[in-house]
Amino acid sequence: MGTRVSLESLFSVQERSIVVTGGAGGIGSEICRALGDLGARVVVADLATDRAVTVAAEVTRAGGVAIPYGVDVTRPEAVDAMIDCVLAEFGVIDVWFNNAGIALRGPVLDQPLEEWRRTLEVNLTGMFICLQLCGRHMIARRSGKIINMASVSAVIGRVGRAAYAASKAGVIQLTRVLANEWASYGIMVNAIAPGITDTPMNEDIVSTEIYQQRIQRIPLGRAAVPRDLVGAVVFLASSASDYITGQTVFVEGGRLIE
Ligand code: NAD
Repeated sequence: MGTRVSLESLFSVQERSIVVTGGAGGIGSEICRALGDLGARVVVADLATDRAVTVAAEVTRAGGVAIPYGVDVTRPEAVDAMIDCVLAEFGVIDVWFNNAGIALRGPVLDQPLEEWRRTLEVNLTGMFICLQLCGRHMIARRSGKIINMASVSAVIGRVGRAAYAASKAGVIQLTRVLANEWASYGIMVNAIAPGITDTPMNEDIVSTEIYQQRIQRIPLGRAAVPRDLVGAVVFLASSASDYITGQTVFVEGGRLIE
């Protein structure tokens, strides 16, 4: 007979040191606040330093532990400096949530090459940089959990989303390869893939017909809100998912059923 199961220990993120890139955005900030509520030690890492400071203050005000950090994930030296700072502050990085991302829309024929490059640079190369640098720390400890932000756009061919979709499909494959490479170090690498989620990223389309058409294709009948993603992130950050690696958890209200 093994030890008895307790819900608290199975899904606990208590005391876990968790870095959330894009932590000041719509999804990232909600995840930071939720992780703070659940007793994690949170690093709110974002290009927008001011918003990162605000989010970390919200976590702290609610009784949690958080530090803000202004960082561009496409700059290895900046990410490295942040890791040094987090280790000085928390001593360890247990979980890294690669959530920073941008969505520059446009049909292929019209999309400036610079937008294509920038999308891949932030969504995919920035993730690669973070993975390499946090991976070194996790490999040395023989432990860690990584969560990468993908999207349903990785598997559907939505018009006007070539760069974004290609970057997110890349995220899923990067996740699978890395899960394989790092499994022997006790590091789990998984992805979450939300459907359309009400955040600043979609502010410009929320009142359009395209948005309404997208909602109609979701069996649960509504867009996600950032809170809908908390459960999947906590699951992948906690020991409840210790035998799961290389997977993508779709959180999309049933959008991909048919
Ligand atoms: P958002 O724009 O509110 O948040 C993105 C955050 O990333 C911002 O705070 C931004 O400052 C930060 N960021 C951008 N470039 C960065 C860089 N180079 N370095 C560090 N931080 C950077 O958008 P969101 O909806 O919260 O998106 C979060 C993630 O979820 C993204 O990866 C996005 O692709 C993904 N996603 C969003 C949706 C959606 O419908 N909103 C759906 C699926 C996946």
